[in-house]
Amino acid sequence: MTTVRDPLERVLGARTAKPLSDAFGMETVGDLLRHYPRRYASRGELTELSSLQEGEHVTVLAKVATVRKIPMGNRRGDRLEVIVTDGTARLTLMFFHKAGYWQKLLRQEGLGLFAGTVSSFRGKRQLVHPDCEMLPTAAAGAQTAEYAAGYAAELIPVYPASAKISSWQIARSVRTVLDTLDIGADPLPEALREQHELTSLSEATIGVHRPENADDYRKARRRLKWDEAFVLQAALAQRRHAAAAMPATPRPLLSGGLAEAFDRRLPFSLTAGQCAAGETISADLACAYPMHRLLQGEVGSGKTVIAVRAMLQVIDAGGQAALLAPTEVLAQQHHRSISAMLGPLGQAGRLGGADTATRVALLTGSMGVAARREVLTDVFTGDAGIVIGTHALLEDQVRFDDLGLIVIDEQHRFGVEQRDALREKAAGGRPHVLVMTATPIPRTVAMTVYGDLETSTLTELPSGRSPIASHVVPADKPHFLDRAWTRIREEVSQGRQAYVVCPRVGSSDADDEEEPPDEDGGETTARRPPLAVLDVAPALEEGPLNGLRVAVLHGRMPADDKERVMRAFTEGHLDVLVATTVIEVGVDVPNATVMVIMDADRFGVSQLHQLRGRVGRGEHPGLCLLVTEAEADSPARERLDAVAETLDGFSLSRLDLEQRREGDVLGATQAGRRSSLKLLSLLADEELIGQARDAAAAVVAEDPDLTGHQPLAEAIAALLGPQRAEFLDKT
Ligand code: ADP
Ligand code: MG
Repeated sequence: MTTVRDPLERVLGARTAKPLSDAFGMETVGDLLRHYPRRYASRGELTELSSLQEGEHVTVLAKVATVRKIPMGNRRGDRLEVIVTDGTARLTLMFFHKAGYWQKLLRQEGLGLFAGTVSSFRGKRQLVHPDCEMLPTAAAGAQTAEYAAGYAAELIPVYPASAKISSWQIARSVRTVLDTLDIGADPLPEALREQHELTSLSEATIGVHRPENADDYRKARRRLKWDEAFVLQAALAQRRHAAAAMPATPRPLLSGGLAEAFDRRLPFSLTAGQCAAGETISADLACAYPMHRLLQGEVGSGKTVIAVRAMLQVIDAGGQAALLAPTEVLAQQHHRSISAMLGPLGQAGRLGGADTATRVALLTGSMGVAARREVLTDVFTGDAGIVIGTHALLEDQVRFDDLGLIVIDEQHRFGVEQRDALREKAAGGRPHVLVMTATPIPRTVAMTVYGDLETSTLTELPSGRSPIASHVVPADKPHFLDRAWTRIREEVSQGRQAYVVCPRVGSSDADDEEEPPDEDGGETTARRPPLAVLDVAPALEEGPLNGLRVAVLHGRMPADDKERVMRAFTEGHLDVLVATTVIEVGVDVPNATVMVIMDADRFGVSQLHQLRGRVGRGEHPGLCLLVTEAEADSPARERLDAVAETLDGFSLSRLDLEQRREGDVLGATQAGRRSSLKLLSLLADEELIGQARDAAAAVVAEDPDLTGHQPLAEAIAALLGPQRAEFLDKT
């Protein structure tokens, strides 16, 4: 008997196992069984040959039209030219060796599967030395063992294949495995299967690989999607359960403290969403187990205010709070704005400081030794109630007196290990954790990637916020681009400020860490390099923005320079900031009203949305111009049009998800492991994921250790593997 844990090498032999491992990283029988067919070719339905793209690795089902031996000029031997057809279009198969052998195999009128990489020769598309498998005709095939084993069905599974191993070699391997497979106990509890009318695991495994009809594989796929969703959700439910069992110091809201004084100081009233999120967080902090909460809300929705209230509640209750920011620019900005918000409440020991005041400390990597030592002392003694910093906060020398709350701004920039390092700084028990993100996360992603966090969402913007108008500016229409620069001059002449954003820092740098990931892969080769801050800024200063006060800001500048430039811009001593995405998150200059984004198609949808949130933050309406060379109707242009048309971050985040491979979404947090989601779509299967989450939570609530659900526990262990188990433990 074969089990899912058996190594493929033992079951299939090294010659077959090696290419499977090389191409797909498959090691065990279970890995092979989770390599699902991409689609099913039906015998009646030949592959549409006219749609094949050059360079594509394809498996086509076609009929042999002609077979012709052609002498090879002055060289010995013949080559064989076989033309196959789908009834309309044709494709050439070319064989330069063993012409006689192939001639015998590829009989005219026969139906076959042909796999190879599409190339072209004299304008005709062809496969050179494709892998071939002729399908036995029904009459002849009925007598052969092979027919009985695999070809009885009308449906032929087509697997993702590689140049080294073809779809039907995979099919044959799967068949070998299935013949002797003991699939083991079903990880889905029986009650659940009944409730959702799911087939058994063994039926589904056969149904997905060897369906007799479409109904077979549909049922199979639905059931297997449930496995993916349910096992992951059960793992997350266990984690939530374990987290709730951890001790944490309760930090209840005390009256007469800084939190109340802060509320009185606020020059505005909180939105309903802010009140609700604030109350939830306040209640979380009062619990004796650690809060794990994700606070999401559009840029400018007022998350920082909520975080400050939470920090003050913790300080009132005797603890300290750390705010971790992804960049120095942001850490500095938080330090400035939070200090300003607190006023005398944050000036303990200073002239004018309130009696109950605390201190706000800033710790960054680029601080001088003396300043740093002073800050470290304040952190250690507890004099600094709020400690704001970058990764520098994670260093060993940083010791807190009593760290009660960690606020992480813009979570997606922090690795799991880093969060973990900070958490370990809490003496006795675990600190409460609040993660803030302005990148709206589709619900399903929140449920999977951040599945162990509770979520609060701010859906409304504070009133009085001005709308942002966005337009796409085609770069090939010079008068449109001129108009963009004129708009900047107009705004500046009215005392306002502008951003110009470029994808890259400088023309000379090859490995630019700020360059956004290229979203449309593949088509990069022929493109010019993205526009760079260090090229664009001087060109603007000498050209269309001549006479304005222009400065640059990017991640490669020394921290002091960044701080200086940012302060000058904030204080209105600069008109135009030419920057990379360092300004993407959190930068808050209400007087900035225009943003021109160069090569906008080089940014992701969510990133553009983030960027434009930098304007329209004050009383004046914002304007965002997306400059691009992408042609009208191109996918890149359609993305930009979508960004221009809506300010709804959630719908844009869904679009973003559609554009990216889901593995990438998960990959970012899965410690580099291949995505475990093969069939499940975070977009299409929202309902199923929600049901699986509820079902998993119910099972875990009743049986936290899953002692009564051994097959499920094993499936979780297999899903997580050593690496991911560690990942989840650390989150
Ligand atoms: P986020 O961190 O979500 O991007 P912030 O907390 O930085 O948003 O808030 C953006 C701006 O809006 C800040 O200047 C803040 O003082 C202001 N703000 C926050 N809440 C309100 C409110 N309820 N009414 C008016 N202004 C607010
Ligand atoms: Mg913010």
